[in-house]
Amino acid sequence: MNLDLQVCSRARLSRDPRFDGKFFIGVVGSRVYCRPICPAPTAKEKNCRYFATAAAAAEAGFRPCLRCRPECSPGTPAWLGTSNTVSRALRLIAESGLEDGGVEVLAERLGVGSRHLRRLFLRHLGATPIAVAQTRRLHFAKKLIDETALPMSQIALASGFGSVRRFNAGIRKVYHRTPTQIRRLVRQTTTQPGNQYLFRLHFRPPYHWQGMLDFLAARATPGVEVVESGVYRRTISLHGRAGYFEVSLDDSRDALVVRIDFGDPQSLFFIVERIRAMFDLNADWAAIVSSLRADPTIAAGVELDPGLRVPGCWDGFELAIRAILGQQITVKGATALAGRIASTYGKLLKGPSGLTRLFPPAEVLAEAKLTSVGLTGARSETIRCLACAVCSGKISFSGVVDSEAFLERLCEIPGIGKWTAQYIAMRALREPDAFPSSDLGLLRALCLSTTRELEQRVQGCRPWRAYAAMYLWKIAGQSAPRASQSSSRPAEKHNVAVSAPGHSASIAV
Ligand SMILES: [Zn+2]
Repeated sequence: MNLDLQVCSRARLSRDPRFDGKFFIGVVGSRVYCRPICPAPTAKEKNCRYFATAAAAAEAGFRPCLRCRPECSPGTPAWLGTSNTVSRALRLIAESGLEDGGVEVLAERLGVGSRHLRRLFLRHLGATPIAVAQTRRLHFAKKLIDETALPMSQIALASGFGSVRRFNAGIRKVYHRTPTQIRRLVRQTTTQPGNQYLFRLHFRPPYHWQGMLDFLAARATPGVEVVESGVYRRTISLHGRAGYFEVSLDDSRDALVVRIDFGDPQSLFFIVERIRAMFDLNADWAAIVSSLRADPTIAAGVELDPGLRVPGCWDGFELAIRAILGQQITVKGATALAGRIASTYGKLLKGPSGLTRLFPPAEVLAEAKLTSVGLTGARSETIRCLACAVCSGKISFSGVVDSEAFLERLCEIPGIGKWTAQYIAMRALREPDAFPSSDLGLLRALCLSTTRELEQRVQGCRPWRAYAAMYLWKIAGQSAPRASQSSSRPAEKHNVAVSAPGHSASIAV
């Protein structure tokens, strides 16, 4: 494990929130493990053990602290430097919880042997894949006990314990208390109505919430997504059920407040994980920022607006459709088209303020006559092909193990080029180094004219070029000449440069 003990020690003594979730402290006497920000009096250095993950601390026999609640820490940074396999494995565990076949199946999907995977996990996370998955399950159960009014039987299922007995035993073993005793300890705030659940999801500061909202607001599909008064809200469907969620900022606690309205508590774990990914909550800003400073223009942007994140998406297919719609038109035009597709083909849903539709799934769009809502023939054909590929299973946006192979398959669809693929890699696959280098907005931000120059220029920002792109778009938006004839024209019209391979058209997202 690459833990710098001096750095850990300093972060612990100063309770530095930038390190929250990057390591955990086991205190030898009490056998409890804590977050670096724990409000409890700091232990003597000689009594502290440092662990890269909560699972490693648990494996070493430490129990989670009831005060700082390790289950509430921001997630393990997705990028672990040397091991892509571990990063991918963590992504798959978050998507399916290691429930569909265990470690053998996980290793097979990653193309490595299960013993090798185990070794990699131990080296980078200090715990085996099973321990990591179990700790996540236990942490989520604890969150449900503390933050919801769900009956324990429901929590047992929602956190993947299978039976109430196993759940009770698991909690008792780790916390030395029954689930009911734990719930009594919590100062229960107001209970939520009906199917609503309120969670606080923590991040490592700084987090540029306004930048995230601005980006999402410009692209919010009418009826499906709404951004108003500092809140992002959208409809969702999962496992045949529909609902919605809303997200806002709790500045005082370095957290986002997430309200989920969904009928099936068993899906909560997956909904929360998707929201985490969508809002880039696992990002390790301290690591990212040092690379971004390699370029003077981006460094100036970072200075001005620290903490910009890469907005992900709720659903990869929906995002891909959105990217295709954006080809050759402005952000505003693409948003309007997406709204027309949703209102024509999306299922009705009665949600709060402005939420009226679910975004249509692939099965519906494979059959849709999209030229009737204003799409060009070519664009509607691209969407039809993508929808058919998703229906036939040729392309799946979930459980993507090898991003490059996935993007190659995606580019076989007529009308999807390198630009669209990189944009999808950035937002749907959450590849931190994805970079749509043929984008005219990016070129403009650095006053360059060719893709090659741009790629050379951002070399130093690796492996975080997706973040560099966010800053460059922001800079391009700020420096764009105001179009006097139409004030509503979005500042960042992402055009593909003529030199871009596979494309000669302009694109806007
Ligand atoms: Zn603590």
